[in-house]
Amino acid sequence: MESGRPAHVAMLATPGMGHLIPLAELAKRLAARYSITTTLLTFASTASATQRAFLSSLPAAVSSHPLPPVDLSDLPPEAAIEARMSEECTRSLPAIATILSELRETTRLVAFVTDLFGTDAFAAARDAGVERRCLFFPGSLHSLTLFLHLPDLAASVPGEFRDLPEPIRLPGCVPIPGRDVLSPLQERASPAYGVILHLAERFLEADAFLVNSFDAVEPEAAAALSRSKPGRPPVYPLGPLIQKADSNGGGATGTTTPDRLPRVACLEWLDRQPARSVIFVSFGSGGALLAEEMRELALGLELSGQRFLWVVRSPADDAGSVSANYYDAESKKDPFAYLPEGFVERTEGVGLVVPSWAPQIEVLAHEATGGFLTHCGWNSTLESLVHGVPMVAWPLYAEQRLNAVMLAEGVGAAIRLPEVKEKETIAAVVREVMVGEGKGAAVRAKVAELQKAAAEGLREDGAATAALDGVVENWVGKN
Ligand code: UDP
Repeated sequence: MESGRPAHVAMLATPGMGHLIPLAELAKRLAARYSITTTLLTFASTASATQRAFLSSLPAAVSSHPLPPVDLSDLPPEAAIEARMSEECTRSLPAIATILSELRETTRLVAFVTDLFGTDAFAAARDAGVERRCLFFPGSLHSLTLFLHLPDLAASVPGEFRDLPEPIRLPGCVPIPGRDVLSPLQERASPAYGVILHLAERFLEADAFLVNSFDAVEPEAAAALSRSKPGRPPVYPLGPLIQKADSNGGGATGTTTPDRLPRVACLEWLDRQPARSVIFVSFGSGGALLAEEMRELALGLELSGQRFLWVVRSPADDAGSVSANYYDAESKKDPFAYLPEGFVERTEGVGLVVPSWAPQIEVLAHEATGGFLTHCGWNSTLESLVHGVPMVAWPLYAEQRLNAVMLAEGVGAAIRLPEVKEKETIAAVVREVMVGEGKGAAVRAKVAELQKAAAEGLREDGAATAALDGVVENWVGKN
């Protein structure tokens, strides 16, 4: 490694804590293992208190540089998240180029890393003279494979994916039913479809793919992507990159608001529950159910007889869409008003319902937690696996259905709920994952195995560490 100035990396984190957190974890690993410093470029649209608190909690080696706000007021209010993110990135390209040029002057800038919504910035990085340009893919290797094949699929599949009579077969992947392909790809005529295709077409401009996954959770996809293919950048599975649990529950992903139980209270409640007895129910930072689904879920949890900790938000029918809370996790209305009458009273002592947000990592790390009913967001999935918590899959949008396919049909770390969610089925699946002797026992055993594999990969001699060594060697040469 060149002596003198430490190597420096610029990372572009497009809106959403789900992108920022794993990138920041990567930056922390770069600092701790190789003394590489990082500047995180962030967008104004997520300059929330949550993001500010998170950024200020990072070590000194990881600094941040907010991009100047861009005007998005001309976008229609119903514009999809993907379209918004991509547009914000495109309009920020001049600022990104300027900042990268400045960093080239003031630091030993060795690489530019962007998450998947920032692939348009590769050209800006090249123009600014940054030699190495990498794509950080915050999802699974299955999702990455789908993105890599998307330009071909778009050309060869007639009509909509959901109408395909047979599942899509991709190298190393569990067969993917057309309706489980990413939600923004479900309407060809939609702007979101065009955005995703446009981003995917730029993937090959990267020098390398840094992926937040690990071999054991999708071994065949990992094997397929590890074989070199002309024209495709090498793939480095660096995961699982997740935040560490903070014992007092003050994780940086949450903020305190008056309408919320102090987060420590739900951990205190967990302290009083028997080991592995509670199912945690949460739909990520933005997911919301339909009112009817919320009702069935409540009744299903009650019927299951299992203890539960449920993070509730007002339903999507009222909030506007299933991803209505993406930029702001706060429930739009009082979510308790949508619970069945008498539910909170009847389940007192067995269940705890908290509005909007819970310190998820601390909950998953808690010994009382024995299951996770999840929307299968990739960060949630990794957090569950790292803490050895088996899952009930209830995917909502984005790439969550694909993750659910991989978890339930592939590695066997989850049981997926059927399309129509009725209280009896919810109760049966929850019970099976928590205490069942059939499929549930197999899922619990598999998750324990994956927990071990995840920890081993991150050790000094582990696969994720070796992969990161390979990435850094490309940036700065052999030590
Ligand atoms: N999260 C949390 N508390 C909540 C909901 C979410 O701490 O009540 C965190 C969770 O730990 C994860 C992230 O928010 O790190 C959600 O990311 P994921 O990729 O699972 O889903 P998304 O929010 O992008 O749909």
